[in-house]
Amino acid sequence: MISVFGSANMDLVAYVAQAPKPGETLTGREFRTIPGGKGANQAIAAARAGADVAFLGAVGDDAFGPVLRAALAEAGVEVAALRVVPGPSGVAHIVVQDGGDNSIIVVPGANGAVTGPVGRDAEIIGRSDALLLQLELPMDAVVAAAQVPGTEVILTPAPAVPLPAELLETVDLLVPNEHEAAALTGRDDPRDALEALLDLVPEAVVTLGARGALYGSRDGTRLREAAVPVRAVDTTAAGDTFAGALAVARTEGADPARALRFASAAAALSVQREGASTSMPHRHEIDRLLEGL
Ligand code: ATP
Repeated sequence: MISVFGSANMDLVAYVAQAPKPGETLTGREFRTIPGGKGANQAIAAARAGADVAFLGAVGDDAFGPVLRAALAEAGVEVAALRVVPGPSGVAHIVVQDGGDNSIIVVPGANGAVTGPVGRDAEIIGRSDALLLQLELPMDAVVAAAQVPGTEVILTPAPAVPLPAELLETVDLLVPNEHEAAALTGRDDPRDALEALLDLVPEAVVTLGARGALYGSRDGTRLREAAVPVRAVDTTAAGDTFAGALAVARTEGADPARALRFASAAAALSVQREGASTSMPHRHEIDRLLEGL
């Protein structure tokens, strides 16, 4: 079983030719509300990839709360421990202009009210094979969840902020993209950044977008996995799909090479479809792609 302690946001996405300047009002082409947030995305990715997944976090008592809960439940994620707190749910206000450039305002809402594991959360985390964490909840809450003993801790360090030592001490596997890896280590070359990350944590994967991913472990293993060559139409949440699938493979006992391949296949399927949770592949699709490679 995998538990995800993280954010759930409603993405409010407006599509417009050009993003408005301060003071300007524009007419957009299209508007969509899409359940998102890195925590919810990783939970849905892991559930679709074949794991039993529990989501721990909070939504608000507004109209978005039940929609976010339903989106997780529909993907097969266990939401019994998802709390409702007074006030608004987390939202990401996203303006997508022609050509694909985004501007995003995240208002944490209920995510900002999460203080740490409460109620049955610690028991659920403690009996999980892996705990997936990201940094869209308050840092103190993330640290408290990571300190629950008994599970493998996998951290996606996004958004990139300095990581406290008490968090790093608990992390088994860090999964940054190359920009986050550079921000954490001060090294622009991803291979150098990987080596520096291994001074901080026992294992790390640096994702390189269409260039694939690098893996390293303190036992000396170094791997490079090429991305599956596909025509990408929307790379939103590729990293979350990768992290969710990677956790599934590891909890099934896959070795690092096999786990990287599985995660790359899942992410390659997701970039060929639009949206975040809407693009995440089911297990049979990942298995079929891997058979054909
Ligand atoms: P996002 O922020 O969009 O969720 P990210 O920046 O966290 O993504 P990336 O490094 O861009 O993560 O991508 C994660 C993984 O997804 C890559 O390691 C790769 O396996 C896969 N991937 C990303 N882009 C492509 C692509 N164009 N073609 C095939 N695979 C891709």
